[in-house]
Amino acid sequence: MLAGVKTCPRCRQELPLAEFNFKNRARGRRQVYCRACSRAYIRDHYTRNRQYYIDKAFARKGRELPRLHELVILPETGHMGPVERPDEVAAALLALSTAGQAAATGLAA
Ligand SMILES: [Zn+2]
Repeated sequence: MLAGVKTCPRCRQELPLAEFNFKNRARGRRQVYCRACSRAYIRDHYTRNRQYYIDKAFARKGRELPRLHELVILPETGHMGPVERPDEVAAALLALSTAGQAAATGLAA
């Protein structure tokens, strides 16, 4: 095997190392499959396990929402500050997340 070149066992192509994502950047270790194959695998994994990813995203948002409810951008300063009526903000956020549920990839992203 040539230095700086690696063969992907999935597509059987010999590619430059830059075509393989890092597994551990500090140790300079690369993934086994090339970037194109990794991308295809992850995409395929998502379509086969869509509900798992959706549940995970909702669980994450559920944990973060209480924190978001407590803060809002204050018009005077443009900075984040405490909300006087957290319930109203919670309702507004819920309406937002319900409306955008189809495309819900991250209100809190
Ligand atoms: Zn490949």
